[in-house]
Amino acid sequence: MRSLRLPIASRRSLIAIAAVALLPGPARGQETETERAAARDVVRTLDSLEQSLGIPAMVAKLTGPDAGRDAVTARARQLMATELLAMGDDITTHPEIGFTEHRSVKILADWLTRHGFDVTVGVAGLPTAFVARYGRNDGAPNLGVIVEYDALRGTRGAFHGDQHSTQGPIGLAAAVAVAEYLTRTHTPGSVTVFGTPGEEMMPPVAKTVMNDSGVFRGMDVIVRSHSSMVTSRPAPGFGTCCMNIDGVKYTFSGAPAHQLTAWNGRNALTAVIHFFDNVDGIRSNLRPEARIQGVIVEGGAAPNVVPDRTVADFYVRYPDEVYLAQEAAMVDDAARAAALATGTKVKIDHYGQLRDGIGIGTLGELGFAYMKKFGATNVQPEPGKPQGFEETGSVSSEIPGLGFTSQTSSAPNHTYEMLADATAPIGHHGFTVDAQAMAAVLYDFATHAEYRAAVKKEFDAVRGLHDRYTDELKKVYTLPRVPDPQ
Ligand SMILES: [Zn+2]
Repeated sequence: MRSLRLPIASRRSLIAIAAVALLPGPARGQETETERAAARDVVRTLDSLEQSLGIPAMVAKLTGPDAGRDAVTARARQLMATELLAMGDDITTHPEIGFTEHRSVKILADWLTRHGFDVTVGVAGLPTAFVARYGRNDGAPNLGVIVEYDALRGTRGAFHGDQHSTQGPIGLAAAVAVAEYLTRTHTPGSVTVFGTPGEEMMPPVAKTVMNDSGVFRGMDVIVRSHSSMVTSRPAPGFGTCCMNIDGVKYTFSGAPAHQLTAWNGRNALTAVIHFFDNVDGIRSNLRPEARIQGVIVEGGAAPNVVPDRTVADFYVRYPDEVYLAQEAAMVDDAARAAALATGTKVKIDHYGQLRDGIGIGTLGELGFAYMKKFGATNVQPEPGKPQGFEETGSVSSEIPGLGFTSQTSSAPNHTYEMLADATAPIGHHGFTVDAQAMAAVLYDFATHAEYRAAVKKEFDAVRGLHDRYTDELKKVYTLPRVPDPQ
């Protein structure tokens, strides 16, 4: 796993942006007040960049009358209505957790094959990852569509409480509608669909593994959709859908003994319970945006045997990776303290990371305008936190992209109610909005060279600011001085 790597060359664009940093800009970008304050200069530069791009006029022009776009979005809508909503319902009712999504992948791959795509299932060493290239692709621009299909791991078994089940059908509708248009009109461009497994699981972080093995190389833009309670408008900047995450496994080792003579053993269950208490104990000394949650995946085998092995699995989250490092270190210490107090030992395994991505206004604002145009509901007009096209993490820090999130449920993510909405009118409506908006943005990207240039210019500039942003954050997150006891 790695975090962002930024080329020196991209920093050159920073100088060009700084030159126009005189226009007043709205204080947007970043998730917390501390981040905004610490990175004030970076955020100001970002705002000036956004202003200089003239995004509102660009969006107004692109969303105006366009017969070609209307044909493409009508085709996406028709595919959803006649085949793909039903496909989504089918996948919803046959849930498969991450890296076991064989049935779902076969359904998507077979449909893509029937619509002229060459599909390779099993890429980057992941059996349920796939790449589908349209057979009549014709050079650049290269349009990528990411689809997911894994279900959540629930106590009642797998369930699609995050509606990944219809992400595939949405992406297929947009991909086929645009691919057919490019071919029909002899417009240069290529469409590729990427099937990315196990979004709700790590390790491995599937998209990062796929990115590292070059699966997304050459893409000029990547789009993706995701379920939501609201139709959201992401701000440009550095961010993720769900914060930066460290996945950490804590394995406690004790010694077994009879329950009646427990002094002959060391209790690993007591250790893991202490660990949870210790984590609760440090919460008030953590910044309020921190989110720490764990589950005990092994808790012992029988009440009359002192458990000699327990395992807890934690996701430690924070909006930025700089403070996250401090937070994760405190959680690790809480585990060590629990082991020390109980005479057990702990092994700490930081097994996965999700890191900052990049969100840009040229894509975000256009996508938001199209979602509204196609009838999205529960629209939140204020720009929210930046979303590096959501959970794609490292991919979104290297390739410009956008996640579409129109309202698809009246319930929060990861609930049985959101599952129910996946096959209900509210879900079907939102999915159809997403498919049309996705098709429209891909169409605009393929057919307007000046729009592509603006996307690239903004992306390179934001990317170039990331190192400066991280350096500023390091200055504010100083550790308190804790003196030796006298
Ligand atoms: Zn999800």
